[in-house]
Amino acid sequence: MSDQPRVEIYTKADCTYCEKTEALFDSKDVEYETYDVTDDDSRLEELADRADGQETTPHVFIDDEPIGGWEETNALEETGDLDAKLGLTDDGDVIEHRPLLIAGTGIAGLSAAIYAGRSNNEPLLIEGDEPGGQLTLTTDVANYPGFPEGISGPELINNMKAQASKFGADLINGIVDSVDADSRPFRVELTNGDVYTADAVIAASGASARTLGIPGEDELMGYGLSTCATCDGAFFRGEDMLVVGGGDAAMEEATFLTKFADTVYIAHRREEFRAEDYWIDRVHEKVEDGDIEIMKNTEVIELHGSQEEGVDYVTLVENEKGHPTDRLDDPETNEFEFDVGAVFFAIGHTPNTDYLAGTGVELDDEGYLRTQGGDGGGQTETDVAGIFGAGDVVDFHYQQAVTAAGMGSKAAIDADEYLEDLDRASSTGEAEVAAADD
Ligand code: NDP
Repeated sequence: MSDQPRVEIYTKADCTYCEKTEALFDSKDVEYETYDVTDDDSRLEELADRADGQETTPHVFIDDEPIGGWEETNALEETGDLDAKLGLTDDGDVIEHRPLLIAGTGIAGLSAAIYAGRSNNEPLLIEGDEPGGQLTLTTDVANYPGFPEGISGPELINNMKAQASKFGADLINGIVDSVDADSRPFRVELTNGDVYTADAVIAASGASARTLGIPGEDELMGYGLSTCATCDGAFFRGEDMLVVGGGDAAMEEATFLTKFADTVYIAHRREEFRAEDYWIDRVHEKVEDGDIEIMKNTEVIELHGSQEEGVDYVTLVENEKGHPTDRLDDPETNEFEFDVGAVFFAIGHTPNTDYLAGTGVELDDEGYLRTQGGDGGGQTETDVAGIFGAGDVVDFHYQQAVTAAGMGSKAAIDADEYLEDLDRASSTGEAEVAAADD
């Protein structure tokens, strides 16, 4: 590869991240030189000299430009900038054309893939940034029909992936950045710059857990702060835990966490819970047992702690009129510090529809994809012919594994009908052209 820029990697012995970095360049078929600094002081000095005093390995240079270690190199890879630096991209290059592309590999996308594979539509699934979707965060799915003993979320997803692959679906890592609906076939660009074309697209990109955007949140996410009690609750055995929210998810998570917590506290921003009576009753039983304490009209405004020690305490505000963060200047708003070892946000979800901006599909005020035939269910056609929606990205109401699966299968059937019409129209067009030529 004569046009390839010069790639150099400083490494040392027994360095896992050095091996990962080399494997990344190997996967791109890119040639590079390695310099082992393990017992080589002059090489180490040379590295420090070239990398502004840094002596950490691995260290990558592309055409003398210091790129950094594994994290920096991989960050460039995720944005597609690494390929650009290596001269591997060509904007005009489409990697592959498929009849059907599915954004998302949660239960809706995988169900769509199983049906689409069986209809010979050769679906390509793009995993997205939460591969497997929300079910991978669930330890026990007790209400999915056909599994009387229950099944773990990851196992159900893996089974569905195997089933989709068996019928000819392909899955790739990647995040859809945009869909260009001005061109047909649709031009689908991933965040790493890869471009695919497809005659039809199913948006099954789900909805991601909401956060509050308060100080301490970014630093402590994954270090004592979580949006998934079932995934992370067991890590904080014996601690006091705080659940934020007043919907079904908050009630269910608080009830679940009593298995591990010393005491579970629920902070809800107003007097009435949004949750169904079923869950409120379960929570009140736990309150009577002394396992849960409810703090109404209370909001978290700051999280304190460190990545080393986890969550130490939180700052709460309370005002009996409700929504205390809207009343910070009210003398009746009480601000106080509260010791907890873990915090769980259960404040709803935001649909992943940014990549559809500009396509002409209609979204509701919250960003959920509108499909025809009814809100939160029904048909799967969007306002753009050839783009379909399924699962939590559409359905803000039911949000169940089984409803997402059902909607995924409907989207695949709707897409199949659309593709058949397209096929028929193009063969009729060709027949007309052939007749005109005769
Ligand atoms: P919901 O939207 O129903 O509830 C979100 C809760 O978080 C509300 O109480 C809301 O307060 C609160 N909230 C939202 N934003 C903030 C904020 N910025 N600060 C403080 N509090 C905030 O979401 P859920 O995830 O609970 O449920 C979503 C759907 O999933 C529902 O349809 C639900 O029925 C379903 N579900 C069913 C379950 C089951 O039956 N097993 C379990 C979990 C979910 P407010 O009420 O004031 O708006």
